[in-house]
Amino acid sequence: MRKIGGPSLTGHVGSETSVCAYERLRDGRRESYQPEENVVRTDPQQPHGSRIDLYVDRYADRARSMIASEIRALFAVAARPEIVSFAGGSPNVAALPLDVIGNMASQLIAGHGSVALQYCPAHGDPGLREKICEVMALEGVHAHPDDVVVTVGSQQALDLITRIFINPGDVVLAEAPSYVGALGAFAAYQAEVLHVPMDASGLIPEALDGAIARLAAAGQRAKFLYTVPNFHNPAGVTLAADRRRRILDICSAAGLLVVEDNPYGLLGFEGEPMRALCADDPDGVVYLGSFSKTFASGVRVGWAVAPPAVRDKLVLAAESAVLCQSNLAQLLVREYLCTQPWREQIKIFRELYQQRRDAMIDSLEALMPAGCQWRRPGGGFYVWMRLPAGLDAKAMLPRAVSSRVAYVPGTGFYADGQGAQHMRLSYCLPEPDRIREGVRRLAGVIEAEIDLRDTFGSGGMHGTVGVDTPGPEVP
Ligand code: PMP
Repeated sequence: MRKIGGPSLTGHVGSETSVCAYERLRDGRRESYQPEENVVRTDPQQPHGSRIDLYVDRYADRARSMIASEIRALFAVAARPEIVSFAGGSPNVAALPLDVIGNMASQLIAGHGSVALQYCPAHGDPGLREKICEVMALEGVHAHPDDVVVTVGSQQALDLITRIFINPGDVVLAEAPSYVGALGAFAAYQAEVLHVPMDASGLIPEALDGAIARLAAAGQRAKFLYTVPNFHNPAGVTLAADRRRRILDICSAAGLLVVEDNPYGLLGFEGEPMRALCADDPDGVVYLGSFSKTFASGVRVGWAVAPPAVRDKLVLAAESAVLCQSNLAQLLVREYLCTQPWREQIKIFRELYQQRRDAMIDSLEALMPAGCQWRRPGGGFYVWMRLPAGLDAKAMLPRAVSSRVAYVPGTGFYADGQGAQHMRLSYCLPEPDRIREGVRRLAGVIEAEIDLRDTFGSGGMHGTVGVDTPGPEVP
């Protein structure tokens, strides 16, 4: 707030001596003036800068392909307490021993602050890299700490791997559907994504073979295959053990690098963790891991394990992106792994997510109208649901939010416009009772949508019903 009277106002809104009430943009901020108060108020809520993009014709081509994820737009709405959100993939960090972690953090700073608050090697803290090798041994991987590059979540590893391999127009093979954050990274580097179908047992080897052959016939070769083999986000399926060797053989015959993104591998509800693809072909696979789902997403610690030449490029790319990542976060994770019963904690997470999976599947079975299809995930966070024919999950979303339930429409998980008839439902965060209530609300919205369809036909529905995905098939 400031008193006026200086020459700055003349020429804008009247003479210096008689200024009338006004509202205007000044330096991009909304400003209002009431003559009786003789003060100018600046709206503190207004962001700085004009909303008009003065640089619209100057961005690099790659900036044009950067698009906000479907999930980001939803976060603000889905966070409202009255909404049951099945939208995010946020882990249930409240189940961690927060007091213990708080003490660890304060001791780290008070006792070792001169190291913890300092820069560290771009490669990552050596002690943490050793512990990461221990974690990966649970999936049959015997990596050396030198093979590990610590990253700012596995999202940064996705960005780095895309950055070092992709020129504009290069092809990436990815499951249909695929993780939205990976698609965002691929789009940012102007990759072309070719989706390969899945079924109940994950990526279909024959379909992968076919995609590689089609590319070859067109004189093209994909740069890598991106796959989430365990408890897929969003499809919920897991690559069957007998398919793993075949996928590796197909890729190796085609000289195709595999990017194995595995944040959920230790969150299976039954049996032992599956053997990682990387365990059987360390030269043909870059493995991406994360502590986001087994510890805490807010620490932003993930990693990549890569063959030495690729690892060196990843380190160079990481240096140019962030110089090094947070030493404090790395040391906190290292301390947690060294001093806390982390395997027990993962078991607690597994049981908690299993209960929520059960709550979701039981209520879907009890409440969803005929024509909705899904399958029971064996771990992880997600149910992928197919709507009855003629319904469009994206067009329906505003009506769902009005009914206080949110999900992510399937279109976010495809680079080519498929997915309109699907939605991703996350059960990781709401309590079981809230899950049941959310499914009840969602069932009501879908029933109303079916009524609309039956009354007006799908041509009368809002939005477009896109080409639908061939997989994963749902029962
Ligand atoms: N890959 C997959 C398949 C994911 O589901 C996620 C998180 N939702 C990530 C990568 C990124 O995880 P983070 O950056 O938190 O490690």
